[in-house]
Amino acid sequence: MSPSRITHYVDGADWSGATDRTSQVFNPATGEVTGALDLASADLVGEVVASAAKAWPEWADTSLARRSKVLFAFRELLDRNKKEVAALITAEHGKVLDDALGEVMRGLEVAEFACGIPHLLKGGYSENASTGVDVYSLRQPLGVVAVISPFNFPAMVPMWFIPIAIACGNAVVLKPSEKDPSAALAVARLWKEAGLPDGVMNVVNGDKEAVDALLTHPDIKSVSFVGSTPIAKYVYETGTAHGKRVQALGGAKNHMLVLPDADLDLAADAAVNAGFGSAGERCMAISALVAVEPVADDLVSRIVDRMGKLRTGDGTRGCDMGPLVTGPHRDKVTGYVAAGVEEGATLVVDGRDADFDGGDDGFFLAPTLFDQVTPEMSIYRDEIFGPVLSVVRVHSYEEGLRLINDNPYGNGTAIFTNDGGAARRFQHEVEVGMVGVNVPIPVPVSYFSFGGWKSSLFGDTHAHGIEGVHFFTRGKVVTSRWLDPSHGGLNLGFPQNT
Ligand code: NAD
Repeated sequence: MSPSRITHYVDGADWSGATDRTSQVFNPATGEVTGALDLASADLVGEVVASAAKAWPEWADTSLARRSKVLFAFRELLDRNKKEVAALITAEHGKVLDDALGEVMRGLEVAEFACGIPHLLKGGYSENASTGVDVYSLRQPLGVVAVISPFNFPAMVPMWFIPIAIACGNAVVLKPSEKDPSAALAVARLWKEAGLPDGVMNVVNGDKEAVDALLTHPDIKSVSFVGSTPIAKYVYETGTAHGKRVQALGGAKNHMLVLPDADLDLAADAAVNAGFGSAGERCMAISALVAVEPVADDLVSRIVDRMGKLRTGDGTRGCDMGPLVTGPHRDKVTGYVAAGVEEGATLVVDGRDADFDGGDDGFFLAPTLFDQVTPEMSIYRDEIFGPVLSVVRVHSYEEGLRLINDNPYGNGTAIFTNDGGAARRFQHEVEVGMVGVNVPIPVPVSYFSFGGWKSSLFGDTHAHGIEGVHFFTRGKVVTSRWLDPSHGGLNLGFPQNT
C-alpha cells in the first residue's frame, strides 16, 4: 500500500497546493510507512496565519450564545466520532485502542468545560464605586493563537487548549506533531461541521521551520506549546522575545513514593499501570518508584508478578501495551536499558527479550524493570519516555521527599500510604505541580488546570480550567459615568473616589 498524502487544513478545507518537503508517518505496530506528510515552509505558515487573521474579527464579535452553540455541537460530534479518532491515534502513535479512546474522552472533557463559556467570561460590576461612577471588568480574545503539540497525546493535548481558545473568541493555528498528525486533523474537520466559520480553526503541519515561523510571526498573539523540556525552553524564550504570551509545558520525571504502611497490592497495580500504560510515553507516567524500606523486596516481587501477565503488541489486537512511536525512539529507549546495566542497576525484567504480538518490524519493547537504581545513573536522571520503570530504595520519607524535590522536573508525583497525616504533609512539602494521593496518574479534571513546576513548565499559566480562560483572553476594566451636569468642573488632581 503506498503512503497516503497528509496535508494542512486551512480555511475550512484540506490544502491542495504542492509541497517541497514531506516526512514519513509510520504504523508503529508494523513498521510500515503509511503517510507522507506535507511540511510547511515559513511562507505557507504566513498564508495560514493571514487566513486565520481574516476570519478572526467576525468570530470575536460573535455572541456568546452562538459561540456556545458551536461548542455544544462540537462536543456531540466528537463524542459520535470518538472511535474513529481513537483508531487514527492507534494507527500512528501505537497506543492500544482503549487507551486511545481514554485520551479522546479526556480531551472531550475540555470541550464540555468550554461549553460553559458565557459563565466563564462573566466579568465583575461595581455600581457606584465613586459617587455616580460604575466600574466593570471584561475579558476579550487575543486574536490568532498558536498551539504546538507533541506526539504522545495527538488528540488530547491540542484539546487542552483549542476548545477554550475558540470559545474565548480567538482563531487558532495548530501545529501537531509530525509523527502522528491525523487525529488532530480529523478533530479539526469536526469544527466546521459544528458550525465554526472557515478560517477560525486551522492546522499547519511541519517541523522546526513551521514552529519558528509561528514563534516570530507578528500576528500570532500567543503560543501554547507542549513537548520536551529543551524545546519548551526554546519556544518560551523565542516566543516571549517576539512579544507573545507563552505557556510552554515540558518534560517530566515522575516519582511515586511508597511508604511502608501502603497497601502494596494497590501500589503494585498503580506502578505497573502508570509505568507501562501507553508504553511509558505519557508526561504523567511514573518512571521512578521510590520505595521506603523495608517494602522494596515485597513491592518489586508483586510488580514482577503483574508484569508477567502483560501482553505487548499491536494496539488493535487487545494487547495491554503497544509499540513505541518510531524506530529511532525505540532504539533510544533500548540504549537506556543497556546503559542502566552498565551503570550497575539490577535489571529485573528485560523487555528486550520478550515475544511481541505484532509485526516483525514493529517498534516494540516490552515492560522493563530496574531495581537498585541510584540518582547518578542516566536511567534515573533522564526522561526516557519508554516502558522502563526504575526502583530507587530509600530509608525514610524525608529521604524520598528530598530526592523528588532535588529533581529538576516537577510535573506529577504520587504518594502511596494509609496515613492521612503523611499524605497531607507530602502534598504540602513536595515541589511538584500535580500530586496524587493513592492515585498514580493525577491528571486534573478539565475544570482544574494542568501544569507542572520547575523544568516541566515555562511561563506562569497552566493549561485549561480557569487559567486557560485567562491565558486566551485579555482583561479590561471600564470606569464609567453617565453625565450628570452637577459633576462637571475642572480638577487636574489624580482621581480620588468619593
Ligand atoms: P518534542 O519536543 O520533540 O516535540 C514537540 C513539538 O515541538 C512538536 O510539534 C515538534 O514538531 C516540535 N519540535 C521538535 N523539535 C523542534 C525544534 N528543534 N524546534 C522547534 N520545534 C520543534 O516532543 P515529543 O517527542 O513530540 O513529545 C514528548 C515530550 O513531550 C516528552 O518530553 C513529554 O514529557 C513531553 N510532554 C509534556 C507534557 C506536559 O504536560 N508537561 C505533556 C505531553 C508531553
